[in-house]
Amino acid sequence: MKAFQIKKNGEPLEQVELEKPTAVGNEILVKTIACGVCHSDVHIHDGYFDLGGGAQLPTPAADLSMGHEIYGEVVAIGDTASDVSIGEKFVVYPWIGCGECEDCLSGNEHYCGPTTNKNLGITENGGYGEFVLVPDKKYLFSAGDTPDELAGSYACRGLTAYSAIQKANIKEGQNSVVIVGAGGMGLLAVKIIQAVYSINPIVVDIDDAKLEIAKSLGASHVVNSSSPEEAMMKIFEITGGATSVIDFVGAAPAFEFAYNLFGLRRGGTYVLVGLLGGQTTIQLPMVTLTARSILGSYVGSLSEMGELMELVSSGKIDPTPVEVRNISESNEVLEGMRCGKVNGIVCFTHD
Ligand SMILES: [Zn+2]
Ligand SMILES: [Zn+2]
Repeated sequence: MKAFQIKKNGEPLEQVELEKPTAVGNEILVKTIACGVCHSDVHIHDGYFDLGGGAQLPTPAADLSMGHEIYGEVVAIGDTASDVSIGEKFVVYPWIGCGECEDCLSGNEHYCGPTTNKNLGITENGGYGEFVLVPDKKYLFSAGDTPDELAGSYACRGLTAYSAIQKANIKEGQNSVVIVGAGGMGLLAVKIIQAVYSINPIVVDIDDAKLEIAKSLGASHVVNSSSPEEAMMKIFEITGGATSVIDFVGAAPAFEFAYNLFGLRRGGTYVLVGLLGGQTTIQLPMVTLTARSILGSYVGSLSEMGELMELVSSGKIDPTPVEVRNISESNEVLEGMRCGKVNGIVCFTHD
C-alpha cells in the first residue's frame, strides 16, 4: 500500500510502499476514504512544540504516516471482531491508549502517556496511508449522512472543539461566548455551539478571509483583532465582558488579547486549546479577584466522541465545507498551514 511518511522531522514527507496490514483478533482494517489535515500535523511534522523563549517540547517522529482524522471503509475484520461488516464506513477515534494505565482504565484513554499511547497518526500509522489498522470496533463511529470529506474532521478538530465547549461553562442563549481563531477547529466549534447551546458565538481572528467564512457559518459577530484595543472595545460593546472564551490559537498575543476580554467581569472561563506556542505572564491577584478559571483542553474522551457522533449522525450539526486535496499534495498543504495560508478545512484523499 501507498503511504506518505515523515522520514525526518521538518523534511518533506516521502511516498513509500508499505505492506498492507492484516487484521487479527479484534482488529479491523479500514481503507482511508478521506483524512482531515489538522494543524497538529504541522507540529508533528516539525518535531516539536514551541514553548516560547527559545524552548521546545520535542515530539520526534520517523517512518510515520500521520493523519489522525480518518474516515474509512471496513475492508478486513479479525477473527474475534464482532458487530462490524465489510463495506461499512466509519470515523475512527484515534486517541487510543495502552488500555492498562489508570487513565485508560478510567475512561480517559486520550490522557495515556506519550510513550505508552497508540494514537493513530501520532505514534501509530494513520490516514496518510491507504489503509489503517484499528485495534477494536469500539473506536469506530458512524457519521450518518455527513459528507465523506468532512466526517474524519470530527475525530480531532470536532472532538477537541466539543470537549472544550463542554468545559467552557456556557449557558444556553448567552451572547458573550467568544471563539478565538477561525481556522478549521474554530469553524467546527461555531457549528457545535449552535447545535448544543443554540448560541451564535463571536469569532475573532486576524485574517478577514477566515472571518468571512465564520460569518457565513453563522457567527453572530466577527472581529478582526489586528488592532487589539479596537477589537476589545468592540467586543465589550457587544458583551459587556466575555463570560466564556475558547482559544483555538494558543499563542501569546492571542492569549493576552483573549484573557482581557473578560474585563473585570467575575467568573469567566478561559479554555486554552490551540498549540501554536509561546509563553506569557499572568497578574496573579487578578485571577483570584475575578474568580476566573483557566483550563487546558486536550482532544476528547471516547465517551465524548460517542456524544458528538450521536449529534453528527443524527444531522444536528450543520456540515462545514471542506476542500479536498490529493495526498500527493501533502507537502504543499502542510506548508500552507504552517504559514496560515489555508482557509477552512482541508482533507486528503488517496485516489
Ligand atoms: Zn488534530
Ligand atoms: Zn494507558
